[in-house]
Amino acid sequence: MKFFFPDSQDQIDPGFDFGTEEHPVLRVRQRDDLYAHEALNGHVIDGLLVSKAIVDGTAGGAGKYTAAQRNRLYRAGVRHFFRLDQAPGPAVQTMGDCGAFNYVREEIPPVTPDQVIDFYVECGFDLGISVDHVIFGFDPAADTDPHHPQREQWRSRQQITLDLADTFLARCKARKTRFGPLGVAQGWSPASYAAAVRTLQKIGYTRIALGGMVPLKTGEILACLRELSAARDPGTQFHLLGITRRSNISQFVSYGVTSFDSTSAFRQAFKDDKDNYHTANRTYTAIRVPQVDGYPRLKAQILAGQVDQDAAIERERACLRALQEYDAGDTSARQVINALQRYNEILGFEDYASAYKEVLDDAPWKTCPCNICAKAGINVLLFRGSERNKRRGFHNLYVFRRRLDRELDARSAV
Ligand SMILES: [Zn+2]
Repeated sequence: MKFFFPDSQDQIDPGFDFGTEEHPVLRVRQRDDLYAHEALNGHVIDGLLVSKAIVDGTAGGAGKYTAAQRNRLYRAGVRHFFRLDQAPGPAVQTMGDCGAFNYVREEIPPVTPDQVIDFYVECGFDLGISVDHVIFGFDPAADTDPHHPQREQWRSRQQITLDLADTFLARCKARKTRFGPLGVAQGWSPASYAAAVRTLQKIGYTRIALGGMVPLKTGEILACLRELSAARDPGTQFHLLGITRRSNISQFVSYGVTSFDSTSAFRQAFKDDKDNYHTANRTYTAIRVPQVDGYPRLKAQILAGQVDQDAAIERERACLRALQEYDAGDTSARQVINALQRYNEILGFEDYASAYKEVLDDAPWKTCPCNICAKAGINVLLFRGSERNKRRGFHNLYVFRRRLDRELDARSAV
């Protein structure tokens, strides 16, 4: 079971100074900043998923890449751009996709199979996913009810995706491309997904990505996979697009899933309300100490004269000081929480005092074997700015990998 991490140009600067909150004067981002597979010790990801929409942008908006980064990716190729061959452990595979989520509202995909193939060939991907169109919705009733309100749209999107897969594979053959092609199955029910898989196998695909399952409940995903495994030719491999559900991973394997991609462990670090820092057995809430001048609501209150800027900065600094002292063993958890609560009187966040008490008492960063925690100390627990938040995201990836290995080991031991 291979874990692919979707690229969104998330990097950390190893030279960032937590005390002054400044980057080294001579920092060169593209040279000095590190991706997850470089920042973490040991083997963490099996593959990198890079989306054309994130690289090139779409009609609706810019991508995550600057023009210079984009040019360098095309010129140097994906392996060199991400310095993949220097990552520890087995070689990291590269997979390209077209980024269907970015055009989900359009009538038909705005990219052609040849444009996507150009992207895969020029960047030198190992694997490339055909152009697809996401079906948002899940309702087996649409299989049989001719008056189902979504039936026509769903059927049309599935047919578009299958037609594009057909063209994509034919163009790959005509152009003698070397990457491994994946067709995409989109559906709205176990039976409709299975029908898509049968068609893709008939077209000639042995690798099939399963799309549109992100919003489904675990039981619905499993119902689809059961049906799909019955439709699967023995040599066909499934890739689950955007699905984690780590506790079901063994079941996924038994249904023919050989790879998946997910950002959720990483993104929970700074998107979740409370499950921000993961450990082998539980999650903790990150400690919110936003920058006075980096937190829009506070900034607005200062501008409106409702909050005294100097007082806010004084309380923010008191928090940072107390947290560093706590990490050094020079103050108590109670003192830290007092400082946090004083700052929170201004911020007006919900009261996290009991969650903070837990994480301060347990001090999980002190026992984590990942080198992010070893270097950043308590800073990895601070919900504050991208350097700290992304470090916590990378730490979560490290933990995710360990937990995934544990699940898979338990499976193979059975
Ligand atoms: Zn860690």
